[in-house]
Amino acid sequence: MTSVLDPASSAAPAASPADTVAALRATFERGVTRPLAWRRSQLERMVAMLEEHEDEWLAALAADLGKPRMEGYVADIAFVTGEIRLMLKNLRKWNRTERVRTPLVNRPGSSRRIPEPLGTVLVIAPWNYPVQLLLVPAAGAVAAGNTVVMKPSEVTAATSDLFVRLAPAYLDQDAIRVVPGGVPETTALLEQRFNHVFFTGSTAVGRVVMAAAAKHLTPVTLELGGKSPVIVDRSANLKVAAQRIAWGKWLNAGQTCVAPDYVLVDRAVEQQLIDELRRTVASFYGSDPKTSADYGRIVSSRHFDRLVALMRDGTPVVGGESDAQSRYIAPTVLTGVDPGSRIMSEEIFGPLLPVFGIDGIDEAVATIRSRPHPLALYVFAEDGRVVDDVLARTTAGGVTVNGTVLHLTNPHLPLGGVGDSGMGYYHGKESVRVFQHLKPVLRRGTRLDPPIVYPPYSERKMKLLRKAL
Ligand code: NAD
Repeated sequence: MTSVLDPASSAAPAASPADTVAALRATFERGVTRPLAWRRSQLERMVAMLEEHEDEWLAALAADLGKPRMEGYVADIAFVTGEIRLMLKNLRKWNRTERVRTPLVNRPGSSRRIPEPLGTVLVIAPWNYPVQLLLVPAAGAVAAGNTVVMKPSEVTAATSDLFVRLAPAYLDQDAIRVVPGGVPETTALLEQRFNHVFFTGSTAVGRVVMAAAAKHLTPVTLELGGKSPVIVDRSANLKVAAQRIAWGKWLNAGQTCVAPDYVLVDRAVEQQLIDELRRTVASFYGSDPKTSADYGRIVSSRHFDRLVALMRDGTPVVGGESDAQSRYIAPTVLTGVDPGSRIMSEEIFGPLLPVFGIDGIDEAVATIRSRPHPLALYVFAEDGRVVDDVLARTTAGGVTVNGTVLHLTNPHLPLGGVGDSGMGYYHGKESVRVFQHLKPVLRRGTRLDPPIVYPPYSERKMKLLRKAL
């Protein structure tokens, strides 16, 4: 369907952001992305792009982040194909018109909510899970029938290059484009009018994205970061707590948005927890984690330098070693950290774990409440009243009790922040929903047309309305 006012309906590949967006918008306007069959084929091709080139993806992740094959497979391949397969399974259901009740005053009539794609959307991804965080939102946008620009992070250059190389071979270039680049390229993209911007990254850049989107009144989803605390109660199973904290913290060398940022542990069990963490590090990565194939590297020299500087804010009681050349920083536990120091004022986003002794749950709750709402919160306790108390008195994007990170792997628990850690959420059905407009439609019958709401108004009509409304 073309409008007489629309000169450009060609979708030829184009270089400038304006041309790219115009081409994708023209594709959308032609209705190409509306049939579920098109969406299904694109989602299937996304899966094929990952599975047929699995070794290349894992090699790119290893080159960028020293990502162990298992971590790359689980988080950047299997997680994405799992989300997309769920979309494929539910494609019809999640795009189905929903009938809803019609109140008496609207009768005779019927009411529906019709899910519509938004149009042309922009997905901007960070570098820590560079495949997952670009493809899951992009797949959701496609499943909802949008055209989409995917902007991978420039920091993970090998992964970004692979997207640039493989996407044109697998995906409909008239509808799904990869635009690589850093700040200037993203800034230029953000000058364009999109129908939604889905951004994953830091809180600081989230503000930039939202300000740019506001110029076009474009809605945004902001998946941001923050300092995710761990509370360890004196009733906790300390061995299990240490293992689960260690796994969530040192996965991807601490470069995970929902990684435990710092630990608040009851003083009665503080030393025991630290000893368990030390034992766990040795059991996960051996006596020298630098030689372990299962431990990643810091993404860039800039981040390495930042983390080495942050390490000086505490005393390492586990780890503490680093090597600039290989961008290695050992799994490190810090004590003696001043709560006012730099390491406690910014998201650590690396393998440093400050541990603070506390005098009970009230102190933990007060500490968390005095800071911006975190993206995730973890509480370890065998005493259910402690868990309920923490849940009742704190706010966070998401919570795992007696564990870390895993709440985001359940597609029925959408991922998103609150306050400084973000706005909006996705995963599972919400990955599609976020890219839809649920158009409300009231369809009225014409057999009856009671004049009750029409002028001239009267006391009698008012009386009837009082009963009906
Ligand atoms: P970042 O904010 O620096 O970059 C994210 C994206 O924004 C990149 O594609 C980058 O090219 C672009 N960008 C950077 N500066 C920009 C600017 N001035 N204008 C426009 N675009 C710009 O984040 P990062 O360092 O890639 O990722 C780390 C952050 O992401 C951490 O804060 C982490 O917690 C957060 N994160 C959040 C989630 C989540 O799901 N909530 C997931 C992963 C990472």
